Amino acid sequence: MTTAEEKISDVSPEKTDSKQDVRQIPIHNLDIKRLIELDACTRCGECLSWCPVYDQDSKEGIVPRRKVIDFLKIARAQNGFLAKIMKSENVRESFKKVIRALFCYQEVTEEQIKEFVANLYECSTCGQCEVVCPAHIDTVNLWEDLRRLIVSAGYGPLEPQKALRKSVITFDNPWQQPRSGRTKWSRRAKKDNLIIEEPREIIKSKGKVLLFFGCTASYDANVKQVAINTVNILEALNIDYGVLGKDEKCCGSVLLRMGDPEHKRLFQENIDQFNGLGIETLISSCAGCFKTIMQDYPKVGKLNFEVLHTVEYLARLLKKGKLTFPHPVNRICTYHDPCHLGRATGGFDAPRLIMNSIPGLKLIEMPRNKEYSRCCGAGGGLKSGYPDIQNKMAQRRVKEAEETGAKELVSCCPFCYQGLQVGISSLASDIVIKDMSAYIAESLLGYDVFERADEDAAAKKKKKEEAQLSGEDEKKFKEADSDG
Ligand code: SF4
Ligand code: SF4
Repeated sequence: MTTAEEKISDVSPEKTDSKQDVRQIPIHNLDIKRLIELDACTRCGECLSWCPVYDQDSKEGIVPRRKVIDFLKIARAQNGFLAKIMKSENVRESFKKVIRALFCYQEVTEEQIKEFVANLYECSTCGQCEVVCPAHIDTVNLWEDLRRLIVSAGYGPLEPQKALRKSVITFDNPWQQPRSGRTKWSRRAKKDNLIIEEPREIIKSKGKVLLFFGCTASYDANVKQVAINTVNILEALNIDYGVLGKDEKCCGSVLLRMGDPEHKRLFQENIDQFNGLGIETLISSCAGCFKTIMQDYPKVGKLNFEVLHTVEYLARLLKKGKLTFPHPVNRICTYHDPCHLGRATGGFDAPRLIMNSIPGLKLIEMPRNKEYSRCCGAGGGLKSGYPDIQNKMAQRRVKEAEETGAKELVSCCPFCYQGLQVGISSLASDIVIKDMSAYIAESLLGYDVFERADEDAAAKKKKKEEAQLSGEDEKKFKEADSDG
C-alpha cells in the first residue's frame, strides 16, 4: 500500500491545471484546538477498522488518519515557510528550482485538493472514529471545521449537496417543499382521524414545552407517524405544549454538517424565535434537530431553555412516576441508536428505559449497540453526496438487525427511519421499521392509530357497499312486485 505522503505527492504539478487555479485553504481560521488535534493523530489506524463508510468503500483516502495526513500536506504546501518563498514574486525562478530540488517541495494541485474534498465529504459524521481514537481527537467537529474551510475556499460542498443548501435557503427546508406545506401533515392527519385536534400553536397557547418537529417529520409522508404519534403522546399525557406551525424553520443541521457558514444566520434566527417564546423546554423527536439545537446552537447564541429529545423528556416523566404504560405492546424489536442521540450526546439509557418499561415489548440488542452502534449512513450529507454508499451502509445495519431474530427495527429519529428504510427496501427485508413514538403511543392509547384508522375506513367502506347492495335488492324487489 502506498503511504499518504507518496500518494499525494505522486501527482506532479505538471500533470494538473494551472497553479493560479489553486485557491488558498484558509487554515488560519482553524482554532488552536483543531491544530493540536491534527498534530495529535498517531496514525495508529484504529479508526480504519471501525469507520462504517470505509466498511462499504475501502478507499484509504476516506479513513480519518489519511484525511488528517492529506489536509496537513495541503496546509503545509500552502502555508509553510517554503510555500511563502515559492509564492513570492520577488524570488527568482532559478532559486525556486533549487528549493524544489533541495527540499523536495511541491506545490499542491487542484486535483489533490479536489480528491481530498471528495474524501472529506465521504463521511456521515457518525462519530465512531472519535469513540475509538486513542488520541481522543474530536473528529466530528474537526471534519465539520475542515468542511467550513473547504467551503470558504470555494471547494465544497459536493455538487449533489448544493441542492440541499439552495432548498434550505429558499424554502427553509431541505426537501424543496413550499413553506406553506409544513403543516399539511396535521390537517391531513386530523381529516384521517389520526389525531383528535391539530397541535396548538405555541404563540397562542403560551405552553411551556415547545415541540419542534423538524423538516423530515413534517414533509416526508413516509415518516409522518413520528409527528402524529408524538402529538398523540403529549395529548394523552396532557402536557402543556405547543408548536410553531407554519413558523417552524429548518434547524440548519444540514448546513452545519456540510460546512456552510449560512448555518449561523439560521441558528441565530431560530435562537431569537425560541428565546422569545418564554418556554422552559424544547423537545424534538428528531435526533438530528435535537443534537444541533442542544449542542451546536449554544456556540452561536445563548438559549434560555433546556433542550431534550422527546424520549429523554418522557423518560424523565417515567422516573418521576408521571408516566405509566397501561397497555401491552406485544412485539419483538431491536434498537438502532441514532448517532446524534447516542454517540453525540450520550443518550443511550432513555430509549432503553422506555422500551424496557412497556409491557409486552421485548428488546433484543444488536452486537453493535450504544457507542458502537453501526451508522445507517443518513447523516452528514452522505446520503445526498454518496447515495449508493448510504444504501450499502443501511443494508449492513438491516442485516445486523435481522440476525437478532427481531421482527421490528426501532429507532428514534426520522432521518434514521428514512435511512434504514432504504436498506430494508434494497434487501426486500421482512423487518418492519418503527419509530419509538409508535410503541409509546400504542401503550398509552391501547391501540395503534394507523391500524385503527385503517380498520375504521374498511368498516365504513363495507357498510357503504352493504347499503348500496341492500338498496339495489330493495329496488329489485319493488320491480319484481310491480311486475307481479
Ligand atoms: S465520523 Fe464516522 S463515517 Fe466519518 S470518518 Fe469517522 S467513523 Fe468514518
Ligand atoms: S484512531 Fe485517532 S490517532 Fe489513530 S489514526 Fe485514527 S485519528 Fe489518528
